[in-house]
Parts: sequence; C-alpha cells; structure tokens
Amino acid sequence: MLPPDYHIHTRFSCDSQAEMDAVCRAALARGLREIALTDHVDFGPADPPDYFRPSEYFAAIERCRERYGDRLTIRAGAEVGEPHLFDGQARAALSQGRVDFIIGSAHYADGLQVAWEAPFFEQPLRQAYEAYFLQVVRVAAEGDFDVLGHLDLVKRDAYKFGKPYDGPEPYADMIRTALRYLVERGKGLEINTSPLRRGMGEPCPSLHILRWYRELGGEIITIGSDAHTAEAVGADFELALEIARSVGFTRLATFEERRIVWREIER
Ligand SMILES: [Zn+2]
Ligand SMILES: [Zn+2]
Repeated sequence: MLPPDYHIHTRFSCDSQAEMDAVCRAALARGLREIALTDHVDFGPADPPDYFRPSEYFAAIERCRERYGDRLTIRAGAEVGEPHLFDGQARAALSQGRVDFIIGSAHYADGLQVAWEAPFFEQPLRQAYEAYFLQVVRVAAEGDFDVLGHLDLVKRDAYKFGKPYDGPEPYADMIRTALRYLVERGKGLEINTSPLRRGMGEPCPSLHILRWYRELGGEIITIGSDAHTAEAVGADFELALEIARSVGFTRLATFEERRIVWREIER
C-alpha cells in the first residue's frame, strides 16, 4: 500500500486544472488510503490576488468526503508560500474551515525575487542560490506551518533553465540552520517527488539534506507528489519510501487538525 500523499493541488490553485473529485478517484485507483489536499495560498507579488476561494475550497472537500470518505481519508490542507511574510493573510483565508495540515514553502528568494523564472538565474548562480536558501531559513525560523515544503526547490528550476546547481554543500550552513529551526520548533520536512517526474534523479530535498535533518534529530517527515494533475497523485512514492527507509526513518507523519498522527513505514 502506498503511503499518504501529503502535497496535492487542484483547480483551487492558480496553476492547476485538476478536479478534486478526479484527484480522489486517482488516489483510490493507485491504492492510497489517505491524501492531504494542499492548494496554494500565496500572496507574493507575482501571484494573482484573491484566486484562493476558501469557502468554495472547504465545501468541495466536504463533498469529496461525503463521496469517498468511507475509503479515503481526505485531509484539508494548504501550501502557504512565504508564511513568515503573509501570516495574517494566510490565517484569515484559512480561518473559514477546519485545517488539518499546512506546508510552508519558499517560492520566492530573499527580497521576494521571483525564483521560478529565467531572469532569476541571470545573476551569479551562487548569489541566486544563497538568496533562495536565505528565504528557506526565514520560513523555517518564523513561519506557521507543519512541514517545510520542497527545501531545495531552486534546483528544479535551475534544471528547467539548464543552469548548473552546485548544492547542497556550498549552502550547508544555511540549510543546516533551517533544519535546526525545524527540529527546535517541532516541525517536519517533506520529501517532494516532483523533480523525479521532470527527469531529475532525486526528490526535493536531496538525500544529503534528509540525512542532515535526521542527524540533527529530525523525525517528522511526509511524502508529497506536488501533483497538479490527477495522474501525478502518488507518483514515485515507492522510491520516496525507499529513500526514507535508507536514511533511517521508520515512520511517517500524518496530520489531523494540525496534530501529528504517526504511521509506521511498512517493511
Ligand atoms: Zn511549492
Ligand atoms: Zn505545491
């Protein structure tokens, strides 16, 4: 049985057309028993304002629970971008429903530079990656979330634009600082499988970073596909589980009303 997919977007995200109903059916077809819907709640300068419609979102989740709840546990979540900067707005948007789980993500670099478009990679790459990881440190230190999303996402965008990525070693101090904040604050780290679908050989974050998290005492991990289509739900989860095991994790975190419910990883 595949583990729960804790990072899924639907048409309530500005970059997805996936119907929530189709996502639930795809999860069941893949043999999943639990998912967390984590649509984007973003307030950055490059994000369309007010696209996230909370009352419709929570109502759609309720309808899916009525249809599939006997076979599929459906958690209501969100992926909040730059939660350290937009805490008030995120809280207001999410106060309209019962939230089980929040991913905190850095989608911009320090200074709200748009980190997923080509111009970002025109500056010296060392500088670009430092600006991104500085944002990650700030999210980890100050954001309200349950797990930190795709910690080294910048490598996926670098790959997209054909730019070399030399991490994680040159950025180890910043990354380990972020991981230390997670451990101290009791927050988790996700294994995001989306780079594997784009032809990269490893998830976000890399094995190195997962090892550092574990060495620093980190225990809380989730696995997420970051699916923006129904077909991608649960993709590459066998490999993600294998990686989690190889780093020494014996259980995964799931969340109900933002409290951890542990699940042993099957051998
Ligand atoms: Zn994201
Ligand atoms: Zn996402």
